[in-house]
Amino acid sequence: MTTIQATDQFTMKAFGRIPLIEVQGHNCTCTDETGKTYIDMGSGIGCNVLGWCNDAWVDAVCGQVKKLQHACNYYYTQPQAELAEKLAKATGFKRMFLGNSGAEANECAIKVARKYSSDKYGKERGTIISLVNSFHGRTIATLAATGQDVFHQYFYPFPTGYVFAKANDINDLKSKLDGTVCGIMIELIQGEGGVCALDPEYVMAVKQICDENDIILIIDEVQTGCGRTGAFLAQQLYGIQANVTTMAKGIGGGLPIGICLVDEKCENVITPGTHGSTFGGNPVVCAGACAVLDTVTAPGFLDNVKEKAAYLRSELEQIPDIESLSGIGMMIGMKLKTKDAHDVMLAANDAGLLVLTAKDKLRLLPPLTITKEEMDAGLSILRKVLA
Ligand SMILES: *Cc1c(COP(=O)(O)O)cnc(C)c1O
Repeated sequence: MTTIQATDQFTMKAFGRIPLIEVQGHNCTCTDETGKTYIDMGSGIGCNVLGWCNDAWVDAVCGQVKKLQHACNYYYTQPQAELAEKLAKATGFKRMFLGNSGAEANECAIKVARKYSSDKYGKERGTIISLVNSFHGRTIATLAATGQDVFHQYFYPFPTGYVFAKANDINDLKSKLDGTVCGIMIELIQGEGGVCALDPEYVMAVKQICDENDIILIIDEVQTGCGRTGAFLAQQLYGIQANVTTMAKGIGGGLPIGICLVDEKCENVITPGTHGSTFGGNPVVCAGACAVLDTVTAPGFLDNVKEKAAYLRSELEQIPDIESLSGIGMMIGMKLKTKDAHDVMLAANDAGLLVLTAKDKLRLLPPLTITKEEMDAGLSILRKVLA
């Protein structure tokens, strides 16, 4: 059987896949089974932040996999310790829990908010407010926390205690504060929802409401984190710090990871036996994540990301069929004037460029290491496809 036949026959039909078999990659260029090359402006949905097979990341991962591939969390490992210490320093958070995916990190965040509240106020204060059009994951609880009706089908009964407020409407949020709310969960840029950045004034007002009412502010940085916006965390651009923040996608550099970070207020909420994970904090994944972190936090790296994002955006703005750009930094949404984003994505693939969509927008999440030459090559394909 071919790769496509076997995948289609033996894996669940969860994905609308494109018939393209990725075989090998270097930085932002990958090769398929036929030897055709593609410029990558999607990074596997924001995961390959250092592109494909970055040398520092490969060395870290391969070095560790030859030493120790897994240790259960009853013991200590050096890569987990190193990642936690470095990430605490880079983000200003006090502690973290290491898991394996974005959804899992968000589950941990919800547990922290609810346990913080039940420890202090008892059982009746467990509501999580999230935003309309948000996306927080595919587990049952994170689906319930996702503010899009299409995700609230089939899997009944859903867990209760989730309420949705309209993004950028502080009065709507205030109207949902009924005394049972323990947490407010937001993405600063709604990624899957169409690359929509929240207004800074709104975010400040949400933070204030959380502080005044002892509500845990959860910022889901699964997609916006790890340099994507030009800052290490998007909340640093907004000038605030959440009580709880989640990261996943980019920080793993392409291996599965999900991290829930907590501030001082929440540092003692999780106690022995109240949370866990078999694979969480895996030494190979952590060794790779340390290489990602070292690269992204090295002097000048994020300034360079900002410059590249500015260049990419200024070039995109000049393409006639692009009506408007959204997002921040290297998280780019494009509203098209006449063409269908999905059709454009497929045409771009045919022409040798990997791009994504989000709702009705075309979306770019380029590897942060993309070179000027790769950007120019990708732009020239996009110009042709959109002409
Ligand atoms: C991708 C994503 C998730 C889910 O992450 P998984 O690793 O697929 O579980 C959660 N939140 C946001 C904002 C995301 O972009």
